[in-house]
Amino acid sequence: MRHTTKQIISAVLLLSLIFSGSWLSVPATAYAHQETITVTANTVNVRMGPGLAYDTMAQLKKGDKITVITQKNSWYQVRLASDKIGWVASWLLKNTEISSATNVKGTINTANVAAKENPADDSDTLGTLQENAAVTVVYEQAGWSQILFKQSVAWIKTAYITEQKNKDNTQKSTQQLTVDQSIKSMTVHEANAKLRATPALGGRIAATLTRKTQLTYLATAGDWYKVQTQAGKTGYVANWAVTPSTSNKPVTTNASDLAEATIVLDPGHGGRDSGALSQKKTYEKTYTLQIVKKIAAKLRQAGARVVLTRKKDKYVGLAPRPALAKKVHADAFISIHLDSSPKDNQASGTTTYYYGKSKDKPLAKALNQQFNNLTLDNRGVEFGNFLVLRDNKQPAVLLEMGYINDRHDYKRIRSSYYQTKVADDIYTGLKQYFK
Ligand SMILES: [Zn+2]
Repeated sequence: MRHTTKQIISAVLLLSLIFSGSWLSVPATAYAHQETITVTANTVNVRMGPGLAYDTMAQLKKGDKITVITQKNSWYQVRLASDKIGWVASWLLKNTEISSATNVKGTINTANVAAKENPADDSDTLGTLQENAAVTVVYEQAGWSQILFKQSVAWIKTAYITEQKNKDNTQKSTQQLTVDQSIKSMTVHEANAKLRATPALGGRIAATLTRKTQLTYLATAGDWYKVQTQAGKTGYVANWAVTPSTSNKPVTTNASDLAEATIVLDPGHGGRDSGALSQKKTYEKTYTLQIVKKIAAKLRQAGARVVLTRKKDKYVGLAPRPALAKKVHADAFISIHLDSSPKDNQASGTTTYYYGKSKDKPLAKALNQQFNNLTLDNRGVEFGNFLVLRDNKQPAVLLEMGYINDRHDYKRIRSSYYQTKVADDIYTGLKQYFK
C-alpha cells in the first residue's frame, strides 16, 4: 500500500514532536542522547547531592520529565526541565518507563574496548566490552558515550560504537502481544498523539488523541500499547506518548525523607549459627528473619530502599554485615535479635542498643520511643558493645525484641500480630528520625 502524502507528513510531524522535547530541554552543546524518565511517584525530592544528608533544592511531581546524567550510590544525577541539576533516589523513579525511543542502540566495532568510570583515558576501567557487543547509549559528550553497563553506567569512546540504523518500522507490526498485569490504564501526555491500526509509525491513523485522554490498556507490542478509547475504538499508541498507571503504585504516601532512605535490615544469626533457643527448642534465627521480613515489607511500601544482610536461613559472619551497610551507603542499619536469660522465665522485655553516642543514639531513641505500645516491657535504651554496631560507619542499632526463653515473651515473638506491631513501630520511629 502506498502512503498518502498526508500520512507521511503526520509521521514526520509526530517524529519531530517526539524529539523536540528532548532537544529543547538541554543547552545547545554536544549532548545528544538522553535518558528521559517520567516521575511516577506523587512527589520526589531533588537534592544537592547523592544522599539524604544533602539539602532539598526542588520537588518533582507525578508526570514531570527529567533527564538522567549519571548514577552514584543508587542515586541519579538528573537535569530538570528548568535546566537545574540535582540528585534523586533512583528507586523512586520507575526505570522500566525510560522511553526506549530516546536511547540509541549500537554495537562495539573494536576488540576489547575498556569501559571507563569517567569520560577520560586515565579514568578507572570498570570492565571490557567485546567486539560486536550490543550497547545502549544514554548520553554523549566530547567524543565519549555513556552506556548502560552492569546495572549502572560506564563511558567508552564514541568512535568504538557503530550506531544501529533504524529498522524498517513496518517490521514491528508483526511483533507479539504480551500483557503486563500491573498496567490497568494510561493517560496521553503528548499533544495530538496518534491511535494507529498497527503498532508502527507508518500504521493507519485511527484517531488523534488530545492530552490527558484516558485509555484502557489491552496489551503491549514492543514500544507500543494496544489500547481502547472511551468511545470503544481499539488501536495502538506509542509508549512514549502515554503514561501508564499501575495497580500497585510504587509510592502511595507523600514525599517523606524515609522514602529516600536506604535501610539495611540485619536478621540476627542464620544457618549454622542458630542463636538462642526457646523452651520449645525453636531458634532465634527463625524469628529474627520473620520479623525483618515484616519490617522490610512495611518500609518498602513507604518507598524506602531496603537491603537485607540475609534473606533466608543461611550463615552470614558478623563482619560482612556492617560492611554491607557501608557499601550501600545506608542511612540506618537495624539489627534484630532476641534475648535469652541464663535460666528460663527469668527476664522479659525489649532492649534498644546503640554504640556511638552521636552517630547511633538518636536513632536508638527514635525507635525506642515507639516500643512503649508493645505488649512487652520496654527496658529502654542502652550502650551495647556489639561488633555490628562498633564496626558500623552508618547509624546503627541492635534491637533485642524480647526474651526467647521466657514463656510469655515467646508467645508474642512467634505471633504475626506482635511481629507486625514491631514493624509498624520501626516504620513510625524511622519516619520521626528522618524528619
Ligand atoms: Zn542474637
